Amino acid sequence: MTGSPTEASTYRVSLDREACEGIFACLVRDDRFEEGRDGLAVLAGEEVTGPEAEITATFEDSQYERAKQAARACPVDAIEVAEVTDE
Ligand code: SF4
Repeated sequence: MTGSPTEASTYRVSLDREACEGIFACLVRDDRFEEGRDGLAVLAGEEVTGPEAEITATFEDSQYERAKQAARACPVDAIEVAEVTDE
């Protein structure tokens, strides 16, 4: 189930920096994405170990739809957003 934009949910955002081409369509959709020092996207507050690293962060808030918009906007599909559900 997907929460409404105002409903809090738990979801995981993954950013594949190997696929990222620094086009920055994601930044304007969700400001948790930022330009890293190497010209590729990073997730704010997350550690970056290299240009080929995958960054994953779990969020619990009402911003799921924004993250989804960033993922949809990415032309190289470097962003994945998946809801975390209790089994
Ligand atoms: S939109 Fe995709 S390719 Fe562009 S900076 Fe964001 S993650 Fe990288």
